[in-house]
Amino acid sequence: MNDCIFCKIVAGDLPAEKVYEDEKVLAFMDIRPTNEGHVLVIPKAHSTNVLDIEESDWIEVAKATRRIAKATKSATQACGLNLVMNVESCAGQVVMHPHAHIIPRYENDGLDIWHGKEYESETIMKELANKIRNKFA
Ligand code: 5GP
Ligand code: ZN
Repeated sequence: MNDCIFCKIVAGDLPAEKVYEDEKVLAFMDIRPTNEGHVLVIPKAHSTNVLDIEESDWIEVAKATRRIAKATKSATQACGLNLVMNVESCAGQVVMHPHAHIIPRYENDGLDIWHGKEYESETIMKELANKIRNKFA
């Protein structure tokens, strides 16, 4: 936890361009934006990602993300946003402290971060749906 750069930002030991703060949540500008105006929203308490965050912190991050998303879209005059969380290294998570990305989208910005693909068969989709449903059984 001591090596966590986002905990250091929360503690004030590393600088950040903050845009929002409350008791549980901090939001600041991403230092290497996917698009201009890219904001990160984090819980102040350390955990790894959405899979182990305290549910109460998750709720506060979700509430704040919605408010900050509206402010960011309005301030940047973006035509839309991508709200993204990378969960675990294989999905692109580099900083192991939960964070929601708010990425403003602009007309013809050239970003292509969402690819759909076809299932080889409907059976595969249905089998996966069954496996997921069984986790709630
Ligand atoms: P991830 O790939 O873990 O989902 O995203 C981590 C994000 O944190 C990246 O977009 C990266 O640019 C940003 N980031 C990494 N280090 C710092 C930092 O020290 N300050 C700020 N403001 N952003 C950072
Ligand atoms: Zn941390």
